Amino acid sequence: MPTLHRTLPALRRLRLANAFFQQPARLRLRPAAQPLRSLHSSPQVRQEEKKASPTTSASSADHAPQDAPDRPQSKIKYTSDSYPDLKRDSRFKTVSKEDVEHFKKILGSEAAILDGVTNETGEEDFEQYNSDWMRKYRGQCRLVLKPETTEQVSGVLKYCNEQSLAVVPQGGNSGLVGGSVPVFDEIVINLSRLNKVRSFDDVSGVLVADAGVILQQADEYVGKQNHIFPLDLGAKGTCQIGANVATNAGGLRLLRYGSMHGNVLGLECVLPDGTIMDDLSKLRKNNTGYDLKQLFIGGEGTIGIITAISILCPQRSSAVNVAYFGLESYEKVMEAFKEAKKQLGEILSAFELMDRQSQSLYHQASGAKLPLEGEHPFYCLIETSGSNTEHDSEKLNAFLEHVMSEEIVSDGVVAESETQLQSLWACREGISEAGQHWGGVYKYDLSIPLPELYSLVEDARKMFESNGLMHTEDETFPVKDVVGYGHMGDSNLHLNVATRRYDKEVERALEPWVYEWVAKRQGSISAEHGLGLAKKAFIGYSRSETMIRLMGKIKETFDPKGIMNPYKYI
Ligand SMILES: Cc1cc2nc3c(=O)[nH]c(=O)nc-3n(C[C@H](O)[C@H](O)[C@H](O)COP(=O)(O)OP(=O)(O)OC[C@H]3O[C@@H](n4cnc5c(N)ncnc54)[C@H](O)[C@@H]3O)c2cc1C
Repeated sequence: MPTLHRTLPALRRLRLANAFFQQPARLRLRPAAQPLRSLHSSPQVRQEEKKASPTTSASSADHAPQDAPDRPQSKIKYTSDSYPDLKRDSRFKTVSKEDVEHFKKILGSEAAILDGVTNETGEEDFEQYNSDWMRKYRGQCRLVLKPETTEQVSGVLKYCNEQSLAVVPQGGNSGLVGGSVPVFDEIVINLSRLNKVRSFDDVSGVLVADAGVILQQADEYVGKQNHIFPLDLGAKGTCQIGANVATNAGGLRLLRYGSMHGNVLGLECVLPDGTIMDDLSKLRKNNTGYDLKQLFIGGEGTIGIITAISILCPQRSSAVNVAYFGLESYEKVMEAFKEAKKQLGEILSAFELMDRQSQSLYHQASGAKLPLEGEHPFYCLIETSGSNTEHDSEKLNAFLEHVMSEEIVSDGVVAESETQLQSLWACREGISEAGQHWGGVYKYDLSIPLPELYSLVEDARKMFESNGLMHTEDETFPVKDVVGYGHMGDSNLHLNVATRRYDKEVERALEPWVYEWVAKRQGSISAEHGLGLAKKAFIGYSRSETMIRLMGKIKETFDPKGIMNPYKYI
């Protein structure tokens, strides 16, 4: 250590994650006096450890909905009761016994139908299809269909269109805007059985797979051939790649690999009248008129069902490093980001922001010890991914030395093994679930210009302090805490208001206040989660009347009877 201190005096406070630091849920820290040795540990050793698991970035710990620890399971109110202004559209038929018989013929398997229309299947069996991840929305569907082929999806939709039966496409049901569950008695078309990989070319990196393949499985599949899926997010053990495309999910790799709009090369979709739109191109370049697939990317199941995707998967990086910092102000966070871009440029694959409150909430909800001693107003997680361990480590070390010596960063740890890397990622990925822990969470996923990104959290906190709705300890207050975190590299803030119960007063305080705040700064009211039902009324804060009218025309062209995911944003 003395040597290190002589050569790298500014790194004094940069403690390294160590062998004790093994379990994502139970972090233990080496006492502060331990040496900095690990920063210069043999790259080969680090490499060997990483080879043991192909996961490169986000935690492989599954933060999927069903794994949420100790979540209070109070009954969720029906959406129609919570939002009495929403009325069932009388154009839609109620599902009959004859309809169910017809679907049985199309799907040809008992496993493909959950039927509460012709038999006594209890309400509780429908809960996982009717209720959303946030436990905020609950539909009343009595029929779930699970087609196994594109032709079956086509047969089902054709019939629904003819009979005016409304449907909701559903993937892993991890969506955060109430888009994946019915509002009334719409039929759920669940894609989980449409789940085969069709092809993968390890020269071009193009994967063609059914829509219902789980994101983590797709990543593991291409991982075996040294590639990665260009998207990664906390719900990867549950969400499906077709739905990822339908929501234009952003996630943790967007900074490096860009959005679905760039990575998706082709789609196979079924239109509401049953037409199969085969645009499953594997080409990167195809300048032949309107690029119709783009309408389905982020369309949230309102104009058709995606049944397969063709997507460009990048080469898997052989050298991945993750560092976790404490910083004393948001200004320092911005400085660190600027430096990271400048010094790590081509190898920077994630730059994530977390405030003190978000880490404290994660700690309280999961019981996990945080990587750094003491508290810091802000935390950042940086990931680099490259192909040359020595080169990357050298660059990262130079960066760390700089941010420490310039006092941009107050403290930090660097992962030395895959397990530690996962543990650091868990501190970021676990926040979403932690917010839920006390009963409910109002989630806002916003694009805000970087200089003002965090001011929203501060203003929201002030608002709740002055209106007397928030107390971190007193259980009688509805709001537990306001936390801010997100994908700093993409100017994407997640504002989460953790509550002890869903409360109309809290909702009224937040909406439209949040949206007005964002619109004033030319931000977007939805950076990556979409609009669903939750943001239906607020689209005007981010889109002009002309654009909303054009979207309406597109909807009408594809879905003249309006059967696809009704009551949602369009
Ligand atoms: C812990 C956690 C972390 C998350 N992190 C992120 C994140 O970092 N970035 C991010 O963008 N999102 C994130 N999400 C949100 C969510 O995981 C994504 O929106 C994801 O893409 C949804 O996939 P799903 O399979 O669960 O879809 P669902 O929730 O089932 O459906 C989402 C929407 O897509 C439609 N849909 C589903 N399948 C199809 C299909 N085949 N064709 C047409 N429409 C379809 C549904 O009707 C619905 O409107 C997170 C969620 C959780 C719970």
